[in-house]
Amino acid sequence: MSDPSVHKLVIIGSGPAGWTAAIYAARAQLDPVVYIGVPKQDPGPILPGGQLMLTTDVENYPGFPDGIAGPEMMDQFQQQALRFGTKIVGQDIVRCDFSTTPLTLYTSKDEVIKAHAVIVATGATANWLGQENEMRLARSGGGVSACAVCDGALPMFRDQPLAVVGGGDSALEEAHHLTKFASTVYLIHRRDELRGSKIMRERFTSKPNAEVLWNKVVVDVLGDEKITGVLLEDTKTGEQSELTLKGLFIAIGHTPTTRFLQDSGLAFDDKGYIKLETRASTTNIPGVFAAGDVADANYRQAITAAGMGCQAALDVEHWLGDQNLI
Ligand code: NAP
Repeated sequence: MSDPSVHKLVIIGSGPAGWTAAIYAARAQLDPVVYIGVPKQDPGPILPGGQLMLTTDVENYPGFPDGIAGPEMMDQFQQQALRFGTKIVGQDIVRCDFSTTPLTLYTSKDEVIKAHAVIVATGATANWLGQENEMRLARSGGGVSACAVCDGALPMFRDQPLAVVGGGDSALEEAHHLTKFASTVYLIHRRDELRGSKIMRERFTSKPNAEVLWNKVVVDVLGDEKITGVLLEDTKTGEQSELTLKGLFIAIGHTPTTRFLQDSGLAFDDKGYIKLETRASTTNIPGVFAAGDVADANYRQAITAAGMGCQAALDVEHWLGDQNLI
């Protein structure tokens, strides 16, 4: 039987995948412990609860015909997991050694945790262009952000010209959100075709203060203490032009949160997502499972993350049973 000082299951991450895994695991009496992480700026906000904490209305999760605010949804997931006895720890896991049996995890308070099974559900965080002035103004609160939903309502952006970089659903969602506050919202996209879905495209472009700037990239962000504009380059002609702005929002996709796993022995795919084996949630390491955006470069939806969390919990239950650990 299992050593009582060793957790049966540790879940890292507290988005839809982590909480769904916790609900299933707790109901299966696996006594899951969820490391929800601590809030941080890196340089944008990273919150326990994940990307949905930065989302206003979730309209495509079945069961909520009128939509639901992202943070409220995550609170409800958490309450449901708690109802069945899930334990919650407000720390980060900063390093993992999966070469040991049981598995070893190190927390941000220098604690060493042992677990028979781990579900990694740490999601993904927003990408940046990576330019010097962009990062400087993002860190200083100078009007550059990777989250319009979090920052767009600030007084500094009211009735001002704002821009969103990107052409996917995130960019369209952010740009649409900003049309409520801005004088004009420019969507700066590097191609002549948007990647985002038709409904999101139409929602944004139907607004009178929306404008798409096609075939443009931001080559510099202008301004000392606050952004005053961007230098754009046309990807077809190479021509450069300045655009006056009071706010710039970057929405160019996400990177999976896996830095703390670099020395763990886990395998990653060529985009840096955790590589899954043939079973839905299994990784290259026995006892280590992954779910949600951290292992999904394709769908990255709340509902698919929740489904993956369910699969991971069921896979853990089978695996612990096969090992005679439950
Ligand atoms: P995405 O679909 O990967 O789109 C990223 C966008 O950023 C693309 O248009 C890409 O341009 C552009 N881009 C990437 N790197 C760039 C760079 N260095 N400079 C300029 N532009 C750059 O990412 P996402 O929009 O975050 O969406 C991810 C997933 O979440 C998708 O499956 C999406 O449907 C989903 N999502 C859904 C909703 C919703 O339904 N409510 C909301 C948000 C996200 P190219 O097009 O040229 O590659």
